[in-house]
Amino acid sequence: MQKINLKGFDLNELRDFAESINEKPFRGDQIFSWLYNKGVNSFDEMSNLSKDLKEKLHERARIGQLKLITKQQSTKDQSMKYLFQLEDDSQIESVLMFDDNRATLCISTQVGCAIDCKFCATGMMGLNRHLTPGEIIDQVLTTRKLSGQKVTNVVCMGMGEPFHNYDNLMKACELLSDELGPNLAKRHIVVSTSGLIPKIYRFADENHKYRLAISLNATTDEIRSRIMPLNKKWPITELIKAAKYYTKKSDQPVTIEYVLMDKLTDSLEDAKRLKNIVKGLYCKINLIPYNATLGEFKRPEEKRIMQFYEQMRDLNTPVTIRWSKGDDIDAGCGQLAAKA
Ligand code: SF4
Repeated sequence: MQKINLKGFDLNELRDFAESINEKPFRGDQIFSWLYNKGVNSFDEMSNLSKDLKEKLHERARIGQLKLITKQQSTKDQSMKYLFQLEDDSQIESVLMFDDNRATLCISTQVGCAIDCKFCATGMMGLNRHLTPGEIIDQVLTTRKLSGQKVTNVVCMGMGEPFHNYDNLMKACELLSDELGPNLAKRHIVVSTSGLIPKIYRFADENHKYRLAISLNATTDEIRSRIMPLNKKWPITELIKAAKYYTKKSDQPVTIEYVLMDKLTDSLEDAKRLKNIVKGLYCKINLIPYNATLGEFKRPEEKRIMQFYEQMRDLNTPVTIRWSKGDDIDAGCGQLAAKA
């Protein structure tokens, strides 16, 4: 008999499972807490379960877990990058970064990615498969255990387009924010999309309390379509319209991520156009100097980055430069797994 993987089951599913093996539903609550709050990976560690129940669990179920392949500590800051192996031998990565009092984990949502952004190492891999809710949440649980650090924030900006794996992602976010589980504040979970417009509307309509970020990365449809082919289907004006819909529905700002790439997206004209694009949008802007070299894509010199930033300063919207954490450990989107 094939054993059922319980990691990724929500509370109702665990209660149903408990009943299916002739146990009281509250046993499901206990297993939930062991899996997601304490993060154990063995039924034997679940000390408040009877010997009988543990035997039944061993017979019928299992707890899926990520296997650590490598971890790389940045020499420039405390960032740590983890490369994990999944049960089908696929590989994914997660990056833990530290900032003020926060420990932010950047997680993957897919093995590879179908969106094909030309500046991204993951995009070059193509899509292998979606991650399950268990594999998504396990990045937080395993990293927490390996680092001994409480993860306070999660950003879905690792490998994959989160909204392409919408249902599994939302289930994982529910588990992450469950008070019987890791109990992460919903506002501390950021979902970053390259611009899957129908899913932005769905996210807004479903009234999720997680935060939304959009990777804009260019100020003309011509350049954006070249570096992010999905823009041909969902151009900038439509994207901003969807972003406005989200901010109106949620009453929350959207974060606009803008990657500065040398002589491609970092001119002063780009800065002026960007200001125009976000006019009337309730947002924050993150300028992200590109942190790799891939074909024609390079990081701008610091002077150009600062000039761009200065040009944006008179905007009535917070603008920050996100100096990359862990750029010596390939902590850019999909770079470590792509190398592996
Ligand atoms: S940047 Fe994000 S959406 Fe684009 S290819 Fe890379 S992983 Fe996919």
